[in-house]
Amino acid sequence: MDFNDLCLSKETLEGIEKHGFSSPTEVQEKVLPVSLSGKDVMVQSKTGSGKTLVFLLTIFERYLKNRDSKALIVAPTRELAVQIEEDAISFSSAIDGYQIGCFYGGVGYAKQLEEVKEGINLAVGTPGRLLDFLKSGKIDFKSFDIVVLDEADRMFDMGFYPDIEKMFSRMRPREERQTMLFSATLSMKVRNLAWAFMNEPEEIEVRPEEVTVKEITQELFHITREEKFPLLLSLLKNINPASTIIFTNTKDCAVEVATRLKMNGYKAAYLMGDMVQNKRLKTLDAFKEGKITILVATDVAARGLQIDDLELVVNYDIPEDYENYVHRIGRTARAGKSGKAVTLADEMYIYGLEPIEEFIHMKIPVLWPDECGLEPVEDLSKGIKIKKERKGNERRGAERKPRQSSSAKPREKKPSRPSRPVKSEKKNDRKSSVKEEKRIPSKDELLKKEIEGKSVKKVNLNEVKVEEKKGFIAFIKRIFGK
Ligand code: ADP
Ligand code: MG
Repeated sequence: MDFNDLCLSKETLEGIEKHGFSSPTEVQEKVLPVSLSGKDVMVQSKTGSGKTLVFLLTIFERYLKNRDSKALIVAPTRELAVQIEEDAISFSSAIDGYQIGCFYGGVGYAKQLEEVKEGINLAVGTPGRLLDFLKSGKIDFKSFDIVVLDEADRMFDMGFYPDIEKMFSRMRPREERQTMLFSATLSMKVRNLAWAFMNEPEEIEVRPEEVTVKEITQELFHITREEKFPLLLSLLKNINPASTIIFTNTKDCAVEVATRLKMNGYKAAYLMGDMVQNKRLKTLDAFKEGKITILVATDVAARGLQIDDLELVVNYDIPEDYENYVHRIGRTARAGKSGKAVTLADEMYIYGLEPIEEFIHMKIPVLWPDECGLEPVEDLSKGIKIKKERKGNERRGAERKPRQSSSAKPREKKPSRPSRPVKSEKKNDRKSSVKEEKRIPSKDELLKKEIEGKSVKKVNLNEVKVEEKKGFIAFIKRIFGK
């Protein structure tokens, strides 16, 4: 199929040509014929499959047929809203006088208000800020005749359902608008939302069985928590990637890893969901421009970010929600590119591995540091205490953590362990500590450590929670290869 087969107008074709896209992706090929006919669609397709262009082309074509058409795109995060706006500006460059406004929190109202006043054809925004404008009467939700909900599953994860409900309740009747919903998963909650607010949507799923990206080389190391950072340094030295995302499960860990990487001479920075907007955008820009080559992020912070050409994704912690594994590693092989994903499995998060492997229908190949020629690297941050610097320069309050993943099996979450205090080192110990640091544990050492180590000896199995036991058993099984 060719974009020309879709009977698009010359303005939109020009936008596509500018990007050098020769043919539509699978989701574009399946959905566009339906959405361009004006029907409501509910679309499930994996991250990186090209959903943005589906709704943008549908919106532009509708506008080109009727210049009074007004579109609204609701996205869960500020970055995603900004990215959609950027794509919209770029793909609509051949459409005369097309006005786009972007509305998100964390920045002042003044500039965004100007955009509203000037009159816009397309509004892109996050639920919070859009509702602010709705309440103050600055945006009339009844004016939209085409509405897009992007990353609907994530909207639920982030607790936006009440906001979405409010927005829909202020829109024109569903029969008088076209509504499109996009999601990486079509959970019951998402389907219910579609049922409540959409007009007999056509449901389109694109290869739902393919949950992982084939082009990605996946590797896994079993490692104790303390030995993770030295291993990360060895991996980075060995792979020497141009761009890397490292995922951690907590914000504190992200700050610590980023800070330690910087101490080791890497151009690294951390990214979090509740950082002030300017800092987030600056960090992202620096990453896109290559001024930062390693981004350390939590799942919430990284959701929906379109960062292409990533050479390496590191799961510094195994994600607690198995679907996040796919979201995370999907960042390295976008739109058919190849990439590498390395997972560091430690005793704390090992219980998350089994559900992931079940979900992706494969065992992640295990590597051992001493068997794959990884050179030890001196950790220049060793022994240095990392202060929790986020308090001062970030907004207060915890990052919006998924209340419950939309489709994940209900699973008790293990309470996170308080971060281990880092011992400060005596000056004259430096030599010996460096020496010690240079040792990356071998498979045998690791086995010995895990089986004979204090942590195992001390445990009274009757006091261990079920999922911890499961994790421990999985860990032992993995080590013995069964
Ligand atoms: P999704 O929203 O499904 O995660 P995006 O819309 O963000 O995916 O697209 C992912 C990447 O694929 C983007 O870099 C985009 O520019 C690129 N892309 C989209 N459509 C095409 C196409 N037809 N041909 C080549 N690349 C495309
Ligand atoms: Mg998208």
